[in-house]
Amino acid sequence: MPEEKEALDSDNAVYRTLLESTRAIPWKIDWATMKFAYIGPQIESLLGWSQDSWLTAEDWATRMHPDDREAVVNFCISQSKAGVDHEADYRALTQDNGYVWIRDVVHVVRNEQGEVDSLIGFMFDISERKRAEEKLISLQKELEALSFMDSLTGIANRRKFDATLDLEWTSASRSGQPLSLIMIDVDFFKQYNDHYGHAQGDETLKVIAHTLALAATRPRDIAARFGGEEFMLVLPETDEKAALQVAERCHRLVEKLRIPHAVSQTGKHITVSMGVRTIKPSPKLAPRYLIEAVDKLLYQAKQNGRNRIESENV
Ligand code: GH3
Ligand code: MG
Ligand code: MG
Repeated sequence: MPEEKEALDSDNAVYRTLLESTRAIPWKIDWATMKFAYIGPQIESLLGWSQDSWLTAEDWATRMHPDDREAVVNFCISQSKAGVDHEADYRALTQDNGYVWIRDVVHVVRNEQGEVDSLIGFMFDISERKRAEEKLISLQKELEALSFMDSLTGIANRRKFDATLDLEWTSASRSGQPLSLIMIDVDFFKQYNDHYGHAQGDETLKVIAHTLALAATRPRDIAARFGGEEFMLVLPETDEKAALQVAERCHRLVEKLRIPHAVSQTGKHITVSMGVRTIKPSPKLAPRYLIEAVDKLLYQAKQNGRNRIESENV
C-alpha cells in the first residue's frame, strides 16, 4: 500500500528531524552485536568525533575518561543485563583531547520473548552543571575554612579552638598521651590601645597572632585567638617540659618583635603573660577543666608581675 508507506516515510522524516535537532544526542545500540545502530549527528559538534566513527560500544568505552570508564561500563552492562533503565555521568573524550561531562540516560528495549534487544539512549551535555557544582563545592570549602578563621588575625578562631580541644581531649583520653595548653595574654593592652589607637592595636594583635602561630610547630599544634587579646596554643602529645619550651619560645619571639609600648609597666615594649598546663585527660573530666586551669595560672602570672610564664605540674 504505497499511501501507507508514504505516510510512514513522512513520519520517519519528522521523527528524524526532531531527533537530530534536539540538544540531547540520541543513540541506539544493538544488544546482540554491541554495535551502534544509530547515533545523532550532533555528537560531532559536541565531541568532534564524526557520526560514522561510532561503530561499537567499544568506541563509546574507549572515548571515556579512564577514571570513569571501569565503573561506568560495569554499571551500564549490569543494569542492561538486568533489563533496568538507568543513567550514568561520565567525562567523554573529545577529539582534541579535552573532556565533556555527559549524562547518558538509557532505556532497555526488550523483544517479544522478554530478552534485551537493544539499548536506546540520550546523551546530555552537563558540563555547565558540573562546573556549577564544582564551584559550589569549592565555595563551601572556602566558607567552612572561613568559619574556623579569626577575621582579624587570620589564625584559628574560638570555634576552631573549641572543636580542636574537644577532639584532642578525646584522642588523648584514649591514647593516654599528655595534652598541653598554653594561654597567652598581652600585658597592658588597654593602655596600648589608649595610647596608640585601636587601629594600631589591631595591627599589633595580627603580628602577635602570627608570631604565636610560628611557635606552634608540630602538625597537630594549633594557635587560636581565644578572644580580645588572649590566645591559646593547643599542643597534643606534648608533656610539661616540651610545653614549657614552647611557652618560652613564644615569650622570646614576642620579645624579639620589640613592638614599642611607651606606657607599659613591664618595660618599653609589648610583653605577654602565659599560663601553661599539661594534663592526661580522662573521660571523667571535660576540656573546660584544662581551660580553667590555664586561666588560673595566667591570672597568677599577672599577679606575679606580668611578662612571665606560670606552669603547674599535674
Ligand atoms: P593585663 O596586663 O592585665 O592583661 O591588662 P590589659 O589592659 O591587657 O587587660 P584588659 O583585659 O583590661 O584589657 C584588654 C584590652 O584588649 C581591652 C581592649 O581594648 C583590648 N582589645 C581586645 N580586643 C581587641 C581588638 O580586637 N582590637 C584591639 N585593638 N584591642 C582589643
Ligand atoms: Mg585579657
Ligand atoms: Mg591583657
